[in-house]
Amino acid sequence: MDQEKLLLIPGPSPVHPRIIHSLSLPTVSHVSPIFVTELKEALANLKKIVFCEHGEPFIIAGAGTLAMEMALLNTTEKGESVLVLSQGFFGQRMAAITQSFGIDCDVLQSPWGKAVSPEDLADQLSVKDYAVVSSTHVDTATGAAAPVKSYAEVLKSSDSLFIVDGVCATGGMEERMTDWGIDVVLTAAQKCFGVPPGLAVLVLSDKAMTRRNRMPSIPAYYADLLRWLPIMKDPSKYFSTPCVNEIRSFNESTKIIMEEGLDVRFERHKRTAMAIRAAFKSLGFSFFTEDSFLADTLSVVLYPDGIEDKAFRGRLFENGVVVAGGLGEVAGKVFRMGHMGNLSLAQIYFALQAVENTLSSLNYSFEPQAAVNAAKAVLGED
Ligand code: PMP
Repeated sequence: MDQEKLLLIPGPSPVHPRIIHSLSLPTVSHVSPIFVTELKEALANLKKIVFCEHGEPFIIAGAGTLAMEMALLNTTEKGESVLVLSQGFFGQRMAAITQSFGIDCDVLQSPWGKAVSPEDLADQLSVKDYAVVSSTHVDTATGAAAPVKSYAEVLKSSDSLFIVDGVCATGGMEERMTDWGIDVVLTAAQKCFGVPPGLAVLVLSDKAMTRRNRMPSIPAYYADLLRWLPIMKDPSKYFSTPCVNEIRSFNESTKIIMEEGLDVRFERHKRTAMAIRAAFKSLGFSFFTEDSFLADTLSVVLYPDGIEDKAFRGRLFENGVVVAGGLGEVAGKVFRMGHMGNLSLAQIYFALQAVENTLSSLNYSFEPQAAVNAAKAVLGED
């Protein structure tokens, strides 16, 4: 049955029992003291998770794409220009959103598996002014992590606001808004927070809020952050009914993150990624993403000769693990495995054992236990 499978697609990620429990609590009033306290706590934790010292956090029913749209509409006016740094699928989505609202947009597109260089960003800024520069942190299709800290460094010498799409990174990889100079981090609930899908999550710096405050109106109503700001400051006020249970479960996830500690959590994601990659290498697999861009939150794994996509993923599913196929130009050539959020060691070893069982049943030859042992060596468990 589907619900017994270990979900290792690049989001939604597996949901921790504490988060499941908070979802199943009786629904309380959206203006009750319990909910007011929990939303405030989630907002305060969210700011800590993205190292934002001065700015405004927002947690709103929706998804990552709504957060992308909100980030753009609340910072950019018609007549201004946006530069999208795209390493794949979701950069192109950001460009499509700008075009939907008639906003001028240029795209710097890297080859899939890499990211745009900070030098190319600097060159582009020397020929044109941009109100906003936007980058995906980790592209979920290519497994490439962009050098967002270096982009922010380049952007310090310009007036552009810097938007980071952290949907596949925030809460699993470091994003220091204030120190690095990021103006908007946007994300969603279902990836590194390990909460079921259903939330658009944003944090805006003071500079980004000033930009919004300067605009008399924007072409949005629900997506206008100024309508939500009073609720985020005092959740006992009403604008549009918040998704009470989902926000309480998001709060639980921020508590899990704060209890683990941010540095420990980022390091755990790094080690988990290294362990999973060592495991696949030991089986003779390689990776689509270029080495220096490998993300900590998912792997895009190339099939070796003789392993067919549908057969592999189908058999792995029967063995208890769900991974995703490739998108766009790599469809059929790779599978994508998420390793983000609150994944336990037991889940990692279960997944690798299931991969070995799958490969054995497909008559692929490898040294038995190679994957599990390679992962254990990285995780210090041998
Ligand atoms: N950005 C990135 C990097 C993503 O991975 C995704 C979802 N996979 C999105 C944006 C869009 O998020 P959603 O599907 O929640 O709308």
